[in-house]
Formats: sequence, structure tokens, C-alpha cells
Amino acid sequence: MTIHPKHLIAALVAFASAGAASAANNHDAPVVSPEAALAKLQAGNARYAAKSVSSEKPTAKARAASAQSQHPFAVIVGCADSRTSPEIVFDQNLGDLFVIRTAGNLVDDYALGSIEYAVEHLGARLVVVLGHERCGAVKAAVAGASAPGHVGSIVKDIRPAVTAVNKSPGDVLVNAVNENIYRVADKICRKAVLGDKASSVRVVRAVYDLDSGKVEWLK
Ligand SMILES: [Zn+2]
Repeated sequence: MTIHPKHLIAALVAFASAGAASAANNHDAPVVSPEAALAKLQAGNARYAAKSVSSEKPTAKARAASAQSQHPFAVIVGCADSRTSPEIVFDQNLGDLFVIRTAGNLVDDYALGSIEYAVEHLGARLVVVLGHERCGAVKAAVAGASAPGHVGSIVKDIRPAVTAVNKSPGDVLVNAVNENIYRVADKICRKAVLGDKASSVRVVRAVYDLDSGKVEWLK
């Protein structure tokens, strides 16, 4: 299938004007500071882990409020693992979180572009890299097996984290999960082009416990 240049240009203009419209809307929507955003996530995870999540979600009210424009207060870079959905584990609603998920919570150019968009046009000022215990993608990298197809790309990109902790004391999988989170956060700090927003954005690291439901915030 070929895309006619005219259509491509129209799509790009629509994307740019959507961003411009959101930016304009952001003048009306107060930007949530990284500290306040973190507090909201911590409170939401405490509700979730204590099995006292907000009822009636997703609400029609949240859908109506976010239908015309979005102002997510945090970006979550998480693993695609089906047990780690950020909206659920942080007890948030439609329009609250700008979520990017790949196996092993890795970031490529598309993910970096998505982070830049959320910061520049949607007003998000907190970026959370959320790994989780017993991550299958990290486990594959620890096992050292070669994987077919594009899974191989994921394993290859996690392997440096495994190599870095291979001789460290403790459980290699736990250490590799944490190391991978640090490396992804570091990559975002180094590579995301945040322009004049860079100094107001905070990138934090966290790991999710599949058993307790608790998110541990890493130093
Ligand atoms: Zn995972």
C-alpha cells in the first residue's frame, strides 16, 4: 500500500494542530508538578494494594472530561506484561496517564517521541519507568538464549543490563530488572528532547511487585 503524499501531509498537519490545540488548552489546565504527580500515583497504588480502589471506573464523567482534550499528569513507561496495567495498579482513570508499554519497558524512537509529545503538548511533568518482578523479557535475557524474530531485538537490548549485574551479589533476575529500569530511565534523560521543559520534568524509577500489588520507588 502506498500513501499519497497529500494524505501524509494532511495527517502531519492534523497531528501538529492537535498538539497546538492541546498546548493552547494547557494554558487553562494547571500543570501538575512532578511532586504532586508522584503523590497521586503513590496514593493510588496504596488504594490498589489495599484492595480499596475507587469504584465506578472508568466513569462516564472522566470520559466526557477528556473527550475533547487530554491533560495526563504523568507518563508511564511500563512493561507490556498483562499483569502490570498502570491505570489499574495506580488506581487512575481515563485521561490521567500517558502510557507507553513494551516488553521489558524498553524505549525506542517511537517511545521517546511519545514522551516528548506528552511533555511538550499535554503538560505531563513526571515520567515513571515502571519495571516489575519476574519480568519475562528480562528473564529471557538472563537465560542468554537467542530468540527468533523481533523478540531477539528485545532480548539483545536488555542483555547489557544483565551483563552489568552478572557478578553482583543477590538474585540475578531481580538485579537485572532493576538495572534495566535504571538504564531505560537514563536513556530517557539522555535522549528525550524536552527543550525548555527539560528542567521541570522529573524521571523516576519504580518496580512493581506482582504478589503484593505494591510499587516500590527506586532511589
Ligand atoms: Zn515484563
